[in-house]
Amino acid sequence: MSTRDQPPIHHPAIADAEVVRPTHVEVDLSRLGDNFMAIRNHVGTTKIMPVLKANAYGHGLVRVAQWMERLGADYLGVAVLEEGILLRQQGITLPILVLGGILGNQIPHFLEYDLTLAASSVSKLEQIDEAVMRMKKPARVHLKIDTGMERIGVHYYNAEKFLESASRCRHLEVEGIFSHFANADASDPAHARLQLERFHEVLSFYEKRSLAPPKLRHMANSGAILQLPEACLDMVRPGILLYGVYPSGTVTRTIPVRPALTWKSRVVFFKIIRPGHPVGYGSTWQSDHTVRAVTVPVGYGDGYFRRMSHRTSVLIRGRKYPVVGTISMDQIVVNIESDSAYNGDEVILIGEMDDNAVTCEDLAKWAETIPYEILTNINTRVPRIYIESEPARSSDNPGPMDVISE
Ligand SMILES: *Cc1c(COP(=O)(O)O)cnc(C)c1O
Repeated sequence: MSTRDQPPIHHPAIADAEVVRPTHVEVDLSRLGDNFMAIRNHVGTTKIMPVLKANAYGHGLVRVAQWMERLGADYLGVAVLEEGILLRQQGITLPILVLGGILGNQIPHFLEYDLTLAASSVSKLEQIDEAVMRMKKPARVHLKIDTGMERIGVHYYNAEKFLESASRCRHLEVEGIFSHFANADASDPAHARLQLERFHEVLSFYEKRSLAPPKLRHMANSGAILQLPEACLDMVRPGILLYGVYPSGTVTRTIPVRPALTWKSRVVFFKIIRPGHPVGYGSTWQSDHTVRAVTVPVGYGDGYFRRMSHRTSVLIRGRKYPVVGTISMDQIVVNIESDSAYNGDEVILIGEMDDNAVTCEDLAKWAETIPYEILTNINTRVPRIYIESEPARSSDNPGPMDVISE
């Protein structure tokens, strides 16, 4: 077979992605399920909208959505229209809210694909109402209130007119009303409390007018779910917590979760490096004695940020070793000093091995960012593989899914 006849490297039909490229992400569906159930137990009868934006925080949008549907999620949240359309095309039937701002010319697509709109101004409401009449298709809308994030939404102090015109829209269904916290993961809850108070102030409109409020009032992200139970209202919107990562180092860990994502690769090359022979672009690192080193096929082109150079460690054979030299686009070099490692040995970039771990918090510290940015930047060229580390616990829990790459 000539090389031209070979299938493209990331063809979805290639079941065993490890055969193709040793670098991959392993998503543990059991842990995702445990995290979902831990949140479920914590919030009781409050509805749950898993937030799946940015490729489900790097875990794979479609497979995570399918899994959430089977686990009994009530709603799904995405950031942009395209994410919602992809989920519909892949057969997801749960209601889906697109959380971000919208342009007028996107509205017909929301109606076409039965996606819930976040309306953040009176004129958007009017445009949606008009599209409903024209297309003769229903639209579900959640009103977005800005209580202190200053991103999108109608300011809480101007919301009355907005809610009034929403109740006058005859053609669309106002199913929800929501706001978003700027500081719910902070150690001081004062600003989050103020935002919640402002939201309640806005909601009092319905009582004053003897109108029924929209049936889904929601505000809580991971930080608020953990620290501000009174903010859970009708529905919560967990993102990072669902994936087993806490939104900050200071947040109170009232719900036990474990990371669902492991980022792995393998040793592809072993060599001895002599003193005075620097490693990598810019020759930024060299040893003063002879060391053993291995090369691993991952780099900033995969989301292993270059700015982590000279700071990161990886796990090989259960031990932690430093990455040396500048991180390249597709390769890193690991100093194993006088230890042994062989071609094909597993390398953990994020995850656990024996009693050691490299966490996405570690990478966030090395990259001077937050875990969110680490997870969402693992490039889509890195195949995602889905495993179940533990069997489903009872017959009414979802059964195992096939392990395939996405
Ligand atoms: C991203 C996002 C969330 C989830 O935030 P986490 O901190 O990951 O829980 C919830 N709501 C909105 C509007 C968001 O943009």
